[in-house]
Amino acid sequence: MRRDNLSIVTVAASAVSLEAFILISWWRLRGVSFSAPEADWFLIFGQAYLVTVCVAIYFMTRRIVRPLSSILEGIELYAKGRLDHRIPPSRVRELHELGVYLNRMAARLGGLDALKNELIANVSHELRSPLAAMESYIRLTMTEDALSQRSRENLLRVDKNLARLRRLVENLLDVSQIEAKEVRCEPEAFRIAEAIRDSCALLRGEMAARRLRLRLNLGEGSPEAWADPAKCRQVLANLLDNAVKYNKADGEIAVSLSQEADRLVVEVRDTGPGIPRESLEAIFERFHRLPPATPEAARIKGVGLGLSISRSLARAMGGDVRAQTGPGAGSTFLFTLPARKAP
Ligand code: ADP
Repeated sequence: MRRDNLSIVTVAASAVSLEAFILISWWRLRGVSFSAPEADWFLIFGQAYLVTVCVAIYFMTRRIVRPLSSILEGIELYAKGRLDHRIPPSRVRELHELGVYLNRMAARLGGLDALKNELIANVSHELRSPLAAMESYIRLTMTEDALSQRSRENLLRVDKNLARLRRLVENLLDVSQIEAKEVRCEPEAFRIAEAIRDSCALLRGEMAARRLRLRLNLGEGSPEAWADPAKCRQVLANLLDNAVKYNKADGEIAVSLSQEADRLVVEVRDTGPGIPRESLEAIFERFHRLPPATPEAARIKGVGLGLSISRSLARAMGGDVRAQTGPGAGSTFLFTLPARKAP
């Protein structure tokens, strides 16, 4: 007999005997006596059958629940992007087949994901050289004396847009490296305070244009970080760039450095609109941008990749990036990284 038919017969037999058992017990309780001795036998048989059915149901449920929970666990991991996970085989045929189909789907999605990463990496890589060439030709052309004021302004606009395009291409390259787990960190001891000063200096022009004050509190002693200096500068550049972009005009940027046990904490605080509490984590997702609160905010350029890259880089170095404050109070970003261990 096929297994599903067998289950239907078992369930039907259990239901009939359970009903008879309940009826006879109820009659007995009400004092109805039975002359036929079969009724007693039926009651004993019914009890034994009930116990057997309960035990059988317990084991059958276990047989089904275990593979089901590993399937659910697998689906949860796939939803988190862990497409390399495979669901283990099950002894229940239908669940086994479901696991096999899900594994095939994950393998196919994993293949497509790898293809997408490769495509992004290759396209971004190929775009880098022509973009750099265009930038240098435009800058060269801008030095020509014969250029009219209007042409110079137009070239300046092209130059700005090329710079944005280059940043986007670099971000995409970073994302593809992070996805392919190819981020290589070369940690060394370096003075983080110097990296902070240099990163702030690079933004001095934009800070002046928006009349932003900069307050640096880098403490005494100049502690050394144990991390990749170039990647640290990239994270600092992103946090400071955001503090400039999303700040109010005439606002302030406060950068401080402190040491907590074996880690250094860089705090970047601004006087912008702040971040709603429910979005403090979401802003670290790729391409996530908060809806602009004002028409001026809608004109701020960005693609929503900087923070996700910064957090991945910080974590690859053994640190982290977190956002802390809510709306109205400006935003505070904490960048933690390992301190150099005492020799
Ligand atoms: P981008 O700035 O290119 O949009 P990011 O990943 O750096 O990308 O930031 C993601 C989003 O987080 C931004 O679009 C913005 O909505 C929000 N955000 C980041 N930094 C700040 C800040 N200092 N103040 C307010 N909002 C911010």
